[in-house]
Amino acid sequence: MPELPEVETVRRGLQPFMEGATITAVEQRRPDLRFPFPDHFAERLTGRRIEALERRAKYLIVHLDDGLGLISHLGMSGSYRIEQGEASDMPGAFHHDRSKNALHDHVVMHLGAKDGTKNRIIYNDPRRFGFMLFAEPGGLNAHPLIKDLGTEPTGNRLDGSLLAKLFHNKAAPLKAALLDQKLIAGLGNIYVCEAMWRAELSPTRSAGSIAGENGKATVMSDRLAGAIRSVIADAIKAGGSSLKDYRQADGELGYFQHSFSVYDREGAACPRDGCNGTVSRIVQSGRSTFYCPVCQH
Ligand SMILES: [Zn+2]
Repeated sequence: MPELPEVETVRRGLQPFMEGATITAVEQRRPDLRFPFPDHFAERLTGRRIEALERRAKYLIVHLDDGLGLISHLGMSGSYRIEQGEASDMPGAFHHDRSKNALHDHVVMHLGAKDGTKNRIIYNDPRRFGFMLFAEPGGLNAHPLIKDLGTEPTGNRLDGSLLAKLFHNKAAPLKAALLDQKLIAGLGNIYVCEAMWRAELSPTRSAGSIAGENGKATVMSDRLAGAIRSVIADAIKAGGSSLKDYRQADGELGYFQHSFSVYDREGAACPRDGCNGTVSRIVQSGRSTFYCPVCQH
């Protein structure tokens, strides 16, 4: 499942081709993905100009000039690629190889840029857990997928004060609170483990324990907010999560040594300077948590 940094990398790869372009035609090649396509899907998109390509949590949102929003989720195996003539590019970096088998090309958007350049944006999804839905004009913030989303972990709004306020009096383990999409939107298992390690906080301590009296910020909540933001920023900079090889938005095939400190590293030495701990794995709410029991308290 792509995590937030991968979705953001895809957005950054698609943005220069999509923003400002007009959708001249849409090929919808099947009636559904995880959900049926909206009624008159191709018809409603055709002729519209794309004003912006935004990301919220793990959703890509295409804002159209009539106020319509196209919400796209990549599911397990979805990917976009850009084609111009014969050339093809796949933005974003993924844990697993993405398919380019044309059998799984489910949507093709033909775009015309102001300068006359023509591009095709192709959505490919072998397992079809992804989906595309509309948010009617003015209805994006009230859309069932969007309305309960918490704060984005990438913006300036996420700081120690906000975390302390969100987690104040919460008895749930810190790990569970960090994965709660209504509190912070789009954080997945990998980056939650990494952020807790960076902040030297135990995944099993109660979420409320990082907040001060009356939900005031503490050294711990400040440290955790900084760790979340830096871990996400570093992953976006690296083009998504850990990969042996990946194709960047410009088509260069890169080699990226994965840089996780604890995630998927059970039994390895803790990489923190001066710590002689060993990375452990425990299961919380049915999912693996990786952490160092020596330096994370
Ligand atoms: Zn350690």
